[in-house]
Amino acid sequence: MLGKGVEGRNRRTLSTWWKDLVDLASGDLGSALVGNLSFQLGCGDNTLFWETRWHDVGILKEAFPNLYAVSTVKGKMINELGVWSNNSWAWSDVGIPADSLSVALDEDLQQLTLLLGSTAPVEDKADSVFWQHDLANGYSVKVGYDCLEGRLDVSRIDDDYSRAFHILWSSDVPFNIKAFSWKCFLNRLPTKDMLLSRGIHLSNSDSSCVFCAVEEETLFHSFFACTISRLVWDNIAQWLGFQSHLAVSPWQDFLDWVSLARKAKVKRKKEGLIWLAVVRGLWLRRNDIIFNGGTCIVNDITWEIKLKVWRWSFFGEIAYSKCNFYDFCKNPLFYLS
Ligand SMILES: [Zn+2]
Repeated sequence: MLGKGVEGRNRRTLSTWWKDLVDLASGDLGSALVGNLSFQLGCGDNTLFWETRWHDVGILKEAFPNLYAVSTVKGKMINELGVWSNNSWAWSDVGIPADSLSVALDEDLQQLTLLLGSTAPVEDKADSVFWQHDLANGYSVKVGYDCLEGRLDVSRIDDDYSRAFHILWSSDVPFNIKAFSWKCFLNRLPTKDMLLSRGIHLSNSDSSCVFCAVEEETLFHSFFACTISRLVWDNIAQWLGFQSHLAVSPWQDFLDWVSLARKAKVKRKKEGLIWLAVVRGLWLRRNDIIFNGGTCIVNDITWEIKLKVWRWSFFGEIAYSKCNFYDFCKNPLFYLS
C-alpha cells in the first residue's frame, strides 16, 4: 500500500498535510481518494514512483501490474529511483533486475523504459498535487468526501483510458506502432499546431491540414474530423461491414473500433489492429505529402491501410499463414477472427 516504505529521510521532510495524504492511502478508501489526485513532478522527493498518478499514462502500478509485482522498490519516492549526473537525470532499474525477466516482462520493461525516457524530475522545484477532476478549483474536502462515499463516479473515465492503454500495448503490431499510437492517445505527435505552440517555425508558414487545405492541422482534425480522413474511415468501415461513427477522442475511438472488432469475433491482440493501421496510414501519407510532395487520393490511402492490416495480421500469433492479400481483402474478418 501507498504508505508502506515512506520512511527515513523522506518521511521526516514531508509536510503534515502530505503525511496525512500518504497515510490515508494505506486503506482502500484512501486509495480511492489518492487515485484521483494527480502529482505534478518537481524534484520527486515527495512523489511515490509506482503508487501515485504523476505520469500521463496513469498510476504505474496499475499500468504495469506485472512489473510492479516483481519490483523490489515499492513505496519509494521518485528521487530515490535515479541519479543526477551533469544536470541530466538517469533512471535506475526501478527495482527490476533485467536478468530476472521473462520475455513478456521484458516487453513491459521496454515499454516502461520508453515512457520514462521523456520524463525526468525537475531539480529545485517542489512536487505539487492537484485534484484531477477539477483542475480549475483544485482539491476540496467536499469532492474528496463525495468520492470516498461513492457519490462521485470519477473512476470510469480513468478505467476506460487504462483499458485502451492495455489493449494497445498487448496488440500484435510492431513495437514502434504502439509507441506512435500511444503518443497519438496523448496528443503528442508533431502536428503543425503543436509545433507552432512550441515556437517552431514552419517551413512555408502554412498551418493548414495537408489533406483538405482548409482547416488548421491538429491531431484530432487530421485523423478524425477532416473530410478526407473521414472518407478513409468510412471506406475501411464499409470494407469490414462496420457502422461508421464519429470519434470523441483518439483513445475513445480506439476503444469503439476494438468493440466493433470484438463483436465481429476478431482475435484478442488483433482487435486494435484496424484502428492502428488507419491512424498510421493517415500519418505516413500526411508526411509523404509534406516531405515528398505526395498526393492525397482517398483510394490510395485506403489500399495502403488494407495492405498494412494484411501485413500486421502475420505479426504475433498467425492463424492463416498462406493467406494472400487478394483473399484477405475479400474477407478480412474471417482471417482476423
Ligand atoms: Zn483537413
